[in-house]
Amino acid sequence: MFIFVLNAGSSTYKCSLFSKQALESHQPEEPLWRALLEWGQNAHAVIHSKGKRRELTISAEGDKAFEELLRDAWSGPDAVIPGPEAIEAAGHRVVHGGEKFVEPSLINRETIKAIEEMSVLAPLHNVENLKGIKASQQLFPQAKQVAVFDTAFHRNMPEEAVVYPIPYRWRKQKIRRYGFHGISHQYCTGKAEAMLGQQKTAKIITCHLGNGASLAAIHEGKSIDTTMGFTPLEGLMMGTRSGSVDPGVLLHLMKSYGMDADQLENMLLYESGLKGICGVEDMRDVIQNAARGDAKAKLAFDMYVHSVRKHIGAMAAVLGGIDALIFTGGIGENSPEIRQAVSEKIRFLEIAIDSEKNISCRPDEDIAKKDSKARLLVIHTREDWEIARQALSFCGRR
Ligand code: ADP
Repeated sequence: MFIFVLNAGSSTYKCSLFSKQALESHQPEEPLWRALLEWGQNAHAVIHSKGKRRELTISAEGDKAFEELLRDAWSGPDAVIPGPEAIEAAGHRVVHGGEKFVEPSLINRETIKAIEEMSVLAPLHNVENLKGIKASQQLFPQAKQVAVFDTAFHRNMPEEAVVYPIPYRWRKQKIRRYGFHGISHQYCTGKAEAMLGQQKTAKIITCHLGNGASLAAIHEGKSIDTTMGFTPLEGLMMGTRSGSVDPGVLLHLMKSYGMDADQLENMLLYESGLKGICGVEDMRDVIQNAARGDAKAKLAFDMYVHSVRKHIGAMAAVLGGIDALIFTGGIGENSPEIRQAVSEKIRFLEIAIDSEKNISCRPDEDIAKKDSKARLLVIHTREDWEIARQALSFCGRR
């Protein structure tokens, strides 16, 4: 039997298929079949199956496009499963689980309602996650549908890391730090332990640097603090999201410039971060433009590095030291420039980057110098594998 994994976002759906047998392996394996579906005027997908890469342009729209794509797994030229009925469970990434969901959960009417209610807290994400869940229910009605939450890994954070210093009555209204990217932080923690052993990874900082970005402080396998908060907007500077800004700035924009909540939301989510400073949101473009002498791109790069470094300092202080620092996500895995710049100024944490290893790095790899006290790992995050494993283990427990 097989496990289907869906990470449904607003512009892309990432789909993977694993055999149950593969998921028993300690080493994460490649999915039997995986596809990246990009929604545009015509949906377009890149499919990897049986060692081959194919592209597919899909004429149908919405759920029908999703169905047409998935049919490729059982009736395409490189089919890997006999039919949709071979899917035993579907694991779904859900970004915000609030206080209610701290473990993977079976998706039923009640779960859907609760996820819908939490959409106010993660409007960019939960709504899209739900669309994907509903499409998958239609396509695989026999499968157990399991939600795996990005907030769940942070469930053990102590109250002092959770509560915001605003009147305490708001804590009771569930206004608190939740933290996100938990599936990735959790996967990387497990992978680091496998690479170095538990003793050498008692105090880890995981840096998930993708379009969205967050750090987590992990003590003995548990997240004890993280940079994202009530929503995935707090903390580091990101591609188009601002990360933390003085709340006083927002008040000033409202009072003196007449900006309303929708305008502020649009600015903070889509018009800020790298894009807000230099007009491009992809770190590759930022680096290229900076190298060509674009001063704003150079500023955006420097601000990004400053933001990551500053938050690493905060996480290290919370942990009281650091055994390993982990880079992951599109930027963390692929940008030697960012890794070098961030690592250079945190030598006081007894981290010494090996610049040659950093340049030639192929994740998963330790790029610290031999005599570096703390290790520096670059890990290819495998949220799909983590979701599949959690979904399977949930089904096994029931
Ligand atoms: P998401 O957060 O949407 O899952 P990813 O983790 O895949 O996205 O990160 C995507 C981002 O990674 C891109 O927007 C780009 O900025 C960055 N990226 C990818 N490859 C490179 C690279 N070689 N150098 C610098 N940045 C890169």
